Amino acid sequence: MSVKRPRVGRRLAERAARKLVQDREKLAVLSPGGVRERPIEVVSSAVIEVRVEGMPCAQCGGQYRVREHEAPAPGLRKLDVICRQCSAPRLLWFRIVPDDPN
Ligand SMILES: [Zn+2]
Repeated sequence: MSVKRPRVGRRLAERAARKLVQDREKLAVLSPGGVRERPIEVVSSAVIEVRVEGMPCAQCGGQYRVREHEAPAPGLRKLDVICRQCSAPRLLWFRIVPDDPN
């Protein structure tokens, strides 16, 4: 029994770590910009990459680097980003809503 216990403990710890990663991923999808239907609104495409670099990685809090910046529809931007620190990938959605003074 005393021989088995450390192994069981490690397995439980690994499972807990995996669960934490999955939970953080779910949270990232639920947060603004996580899905196409809930993009982050910006006033121009020029600020998108600045916003991305200001967002912490969902896994480690590190800074994201933009891999691809696509425009799948007018005013819509899809960014394929990766964490500089832990290499966790993420998709971020933005919608350009020009700042109309009226
Ligand atoms: Zn990270």
